[in-house]
Amino acid sequence: MDRYIIRGASENPPNEPQNNTTNIGESSGKRAMIDTNMLHNEIVSDTAKRKPIKEYEPTIRDDVRRRYVQMGPYKPTSHIFPSTKYGDRQRSFQASWLNNWDWLEYSSSEDAAFCFWCYLFGDKRAGDQAFAKKGFRNWKKALSKFRDHIGLDGSVHKNAQTLYFGFKDQRQSITRKFSLGIEVTGAAYRTRLTVSVDVARLLLGLGLDFCGNDKSSTSIRKGNFLEILSWYSLRNIDVGKVVKQNAPVNHQLTSLYIRKQIVGGCASETTKAIISDIADKYFSLLLDEARDNSVKEQMVVIIRYVNNLGDNLERFFGVVLVATACVERTFSAMNVVKSNL
Ligand SMILES: [Zn+2]
Repeated sequence: MDRYIIRGASENPPNEPQNNTTNIGESSGKRAMIDTNMLHNEIVSDTAKRKPIKEYEPTIRDDVRRRYVQMGPYKPTSHIFPSTKYGDRQRSFQASWLNNWDWLEYSSSEDAAFCFWCYLFGDKRAGDQAFAKKGFRNWKKALSKFRDHIGLDGSVHKNAQTLYFGFKDQRQSITRKFSLGIEVTGAAYRTRLTVSVDVARLLLGLGLDFCGNDKSSTSIRKGNFLEILSWYSLRNIDVGKVVKQNAPVNHQLTSLYIRKQIVGGCASETTKAIISDIADKYFSLLLDEARDNSVKEQMVVIIRYVNNLGDNLERFFGVVLVATACVERTFSAMNVVKSNL
């Protein structure tokens, strides 16, 4: 069949240029764009090698924090911790500490302990900087210093903890609500579209018209499409929840434009099935013209072929407005076939 058809331009649009930037949030009403590769290179696991949060531009600090929250604290529990001599004893960082203290991180490059929460949200102007910036190494007093670092309510660490969990919960909450909203809206849209397509297919199969004279809400005869849709929504609860008055006014999928789109889709799928049935076999075109009162001439295009079962079939392809020249009529008919591919 393809040898008789001049296909249109490529159906595949050219690839969109790749933009290597991303939206990273808003600050002071201004949306910042940064190079994702540059930021990616600066996000590292080892705390001692991290760039302090305060050294990032204010517009991207939350995005940096978001990435570190996503990664979680750095806890290399399988690392072989070096020992240091304290008096007459060798001491080293203990892997169990990483499990016992949520906020604790260990830098394998510096052999030092850090606080994940204080790194992200600590106040650099106050409090203990050992765990947030310099790194803590006095393993002999580790446990008591850990407790001292946490401190009482209102300490730098406790404030950082509050900010950390608030930031984390806010992010999860927004992400979850957003994804749930998309799921709910998407499911309702899918149901609504499926119902409209089903009703259209029923009418097309029966050869019935879609429209009525009065489509207003008070009309008792809105046309086959809307009447069957109403009947369907009353008998199926799931459908009734998402169509008609329960759908957004501008998203009901019942307008004349949408119905034409659905019918066009059905015609396209039907034509594909016919062309697939013809495959590489010979076929002929049957053309018939008629002129109306406005002196417009229209031509019916029917394709005739023998299928694999030996049946002689005639399939209607469409009606086209034609010019008077014979050659143009033939091209018009071929265009009908082409446009239906
Ligand atoms: Zn801390």
